[in-house]
Amino acid sequence: MSWFKRTEKGINTPTELKRETPDGLWYKCPECKNVMHTREHKQNAYTCIHCNYHDKIGSEAYFSLLFDEGDFTELDKDMISGDPLKFVDTKAYPDRIKSTVEKSGLKDACRTAYGKMNGQDITISCMDFGFIGGSMGSVVGEKIARGIDHAIKTKTPFLMISKSGGARMMEAGFSLMQMAKTSAKLALLEEAKLPYISLLTDPTTGGVTASYAMLGDFNIAEPGSLIGFAGPRIIKETIGKDLPKGFQTAEFVLEHGFLDFIVDRKDLKDKLASLLAILK
Ligand SMILES: [Zn+2]
Repeated sequence: MSWFKRTEKGINTPTELKRETPDGLWYKCPECKNVMHTREHKQNAYTCIHCNYHDKIGSEAYFSLLFDEGDFTELDKDMISGDPLKFVDTKAYPDRIKSTVEKSGLKDACRTAYGKMNGQDITISCMDFGFIGGSMGSVVGEKIARGIDHAIKTKTPFLMISKSGGARMMEAGFSLMQMAKTSAKLALLEEAKLPYISLLTDPTTGGVTASYAMLGDFNIAEPGSLIGFAGPRIIKETIGKDLPKGFQTAEFVLEHGFLDFIVDRKDLKDKLASLLAILK
């Protein structure tokens, strides 16, 4: 006879009452597979304490890392996409927007805010990959354009943090027009003699690379970021050659003269602040 016998049947403990490690307490690095406490990972600016892998983060994390005391004012908070082309793929575009808003808690793939960074005024636009692959649609372009307007009006430097798969297919030509619009606005920023720093993060590709991401007075990147225009398979097929090792990484792009420097996210705020202090 066994000592422990369940005599009553049907006793079930609901999952939420089971004593388990709370969800999200541990972070497993996708690069080196080591495990660390999420608090430690966050304190380390969301980089791996073992191999320095820079995890993909969004506007919320960047704003809290860069703005003093995480204090900022957001511009055009509620701007939301229209459906100029009445576009339908596997679902209608407005339905896709609606479900992505609900899922991500974001209104579109870019947020713009202003505040202080190490005591200096700055305007920052930051993309969110979690919103339809960080794709550049009319809202992204308009928010960046208005961010630049704000920088000009308040005579503050402008920082763009890019993270994008490129143009938003559901807006086709309207999406491509954002390249011209943001580039023209950046020309006005230059006329006003205000600095523009572009930070390219993992990944920055397509129409974003082909416009504002590469137009900085300083183009800088996070280590290991994928940076490119077309995907490697397309390029390989076009040029009919094998691609070199490390192709389209930030390190490769730096070596070939397209970046000014690579910055560790843990040093990002201080480096940006001292760079802006020099440019004053
Ligand atoms: Zn790691």
